[in-house]
Amino acid sequence: MKLTWGAEEEAFRAELLAFLDAEVPEEIKGGRDWIGDESPEIPKWASEFQAKLFDHGWMVPSYPPELGGRNATPLQTLIFLEELASRGVSRSVHFGGYAIVGPSLLEFGNEQQKGMAPSAIRGDTVWCVGMSEPDAGSDLASLQTRAVPDGDSFIVTGQKVWTSYAMVAEKCFCYVRTDTSVAKHKGISVLIIDMDSPGLEVRPLRHLTGAIEFAEVFLNEVVVPKENLVGELNSGWRITMGSLAHERGALWVESVSSAQRALEGLVEIARRQGLEQDGVVRRKLAELYEEVHSLRALGYKGFASFAQGSSAPEHSFMKLATSELRQRIYGFGMELQGPYAAVVDPEFVEEGGRWQQSWQISLAGTIGGGTSEIQRNVVATRVLGLPRG
Ligand SMILES: Cc1cc2nc3c(=O)[nH]c(=O)nc-3n(C[C@H](O)[C@H](O)[C@H](O)COP(=O)(O)OP(=O)(O)OC[C@H]3O[C@@H](n4cnc5c(N)ncnc54)[C@H](O)[C@@H]3O)c2cc1C
Repeated sequence: MKLTWGAEEEAFRAELLAFLDAEVPEEIKGGRDWIGDESPEIPKWASEFQAKLFDHGWMVPSYPPELGGRNATPLQTLIFLEELASRGVSRSVHFGGYAIVGPSLLEFGNEQQKGMAPSAIRGDTVWCVGMSEPDAGSDLASLQTRAVPDGDSFIVTGQKVWTSYAMVAEKCFCYVRTDTSVAKHKGISVLIIDMDSPGLEVRPLRHLTGAIEFAEVFLNEVVVPKENLVGELNSGWRITMGSLAHERGALWVESVSSAQRALEGLVEIARRQGLEQDGVVRRKLAELYEEVHSLRALGYKGFASFAQGSSAPEHSFMKLATSELRQRIYGFGMELQGPYAAVVDPEFVEEGGRWQQSWQISLAGTIGGGTSEIQRNVVATRVLGLPRG
């Protein structure tokens, strides 16, 4: 049996590949990961590439052209994400705008707010998402940043933390408490807050790698017009679910493909270090290979259900499995370098320290967007139907 794609899908792929060949910026060509650096600014090449993707209908292909897409089918979206991922190309370095804020404004915003979605997706307006607080991360419903009504405005006071790109964002999609008298998840609302508002202060935080990518955000009696409320008052909990629903069935592809590329890199290191005949190394590589390919098969199985309009419980497992797998792959890449694993001087280590940096970043992958422990709870209760602990 020979499995092939249809002519329409192949035409879609050919057009995409021609675009990528012509337009992928030098900085990320050849699968080179962009790790970020000491500058909090979004690089110009990244903004230009995002805008180009939007203008050519390749930013969110399942959306219509006015939202940076081309009404792509689920199958075409899968092809799109696979081709990008196999080349290590990311659409944007600040995913909050196109992946969270844009879709949420389209789903929950009023007409004026819906009108802000195209620039969020194109990256013309940089957004940050203010959910986490010092005492509300996994348990987001415990957030305490208060918004108190005052005439035509809310007065907002509190603190956010780990807010990606807050240093450069123009607007914050901010989760605030608007009612303290009801169950905690029922008293949350979302406000659009201008980042240059008086009383708002941003203090950058560094990753382990030294890159500045997120920040603490302090809000001290910040005045926010009531018209900046997104959706109904106290309906914020529903909005936490807003994201790229069109792509949900295929988003796992990026993380599986990135694990696969890292694995291919591991084989190269083993060769360069003269370890390709080492039995322990070969066994470990084979195990990782098996894991990557099993996850890809599981992802496809879930996609088949998603494309037919059914839920795909397999996908609940993918974030957990791929983020932990990547951590192990990068960790093994360091192990293969022997004592140099602990060296950060790019002159002495494999690929200028890429493995050390990627391993450090992979630690964040098991925290952001829901920690591994929380993902395990989700799989246990929602997929396996086990009782809550
Ligand atoms: C790179 C990165 C970017 C981020 N960007 C943003 C952003 O833009 N906006 C934003 O709002 N937030 C952002 N975050 C924050 C992220 O959402 C939180 O870090 C995450 O939700 C975990 O919350 P926490 O850090 O408060 O940890 P906590 O919730 O305090 O958890 C601490 C530890 O306890 C464990 N734990 C907690 N509850 C349970 C439980 N019920 N059962 C078992 N174990 C549990 C956790 O797994 C973890 O190991 C980002 C985080 C990272 C790493």
